[in-house]
Amino acid sequence: MGDQMSGRCLCGKVSFTNKSVHDVGICHCDMCRRWCGGPGMAVHIKDKPAITGEDHIKWFKSSDWAERGFCAECGSNLFYRLNLETPEYVVFAGAYDDQSVFKMQNQIFIDEKPAYYDFAGDIPSMTGAEVFAMYYAESNEEGERESQP
Ligand SMILES: [Zn+2]
Ligand SMILES: [Zn+2]
Repeated sequence: MGDQMSGRCLCGKVSFTNKSVHDVGICHCDMCRRWCGGPGMAVHIKDKPAITGEDHIKWFKSSDWAERGFCAECGSNLFYRLNLETPEYVVFAGAYDDQSVFKMQNQIFIDEKPAYYDFAGDIPSMTGAEVFAMYYAESNEEGERESQP
């Protein structure tokens, strides 16, 4: 189990493990800032983590394509789930026990970032339009044209 990471919510009712991923993406979008109280800092782990206390997670559908999961007891923001054919999981980095392994990978929705803060260093950045264009190109490559419900 050396290649695993563990994390939990503030009260401990929800805990989880998943395979190690060390790249943290930053999201400056309006929704992440409202939900997190600041930029979203999260790890795209893709596969569903092994969760203990799953009953305590409440899921909020924040868009047509994704839901956000938090601990209903203490309110910790834990998961972002992309509802693709096979759902993909993103975990908010602050929930992990070992914070020393992380590297900042990129920042997205840079065009929605407010002026009062900036991250130091030369971090690859994308606008919201660039992010959507990238996902649209990827889903077309796989032949999964997105259908509008
Ligand atoms: Zn909790
Ligand atoms: Zn966001």
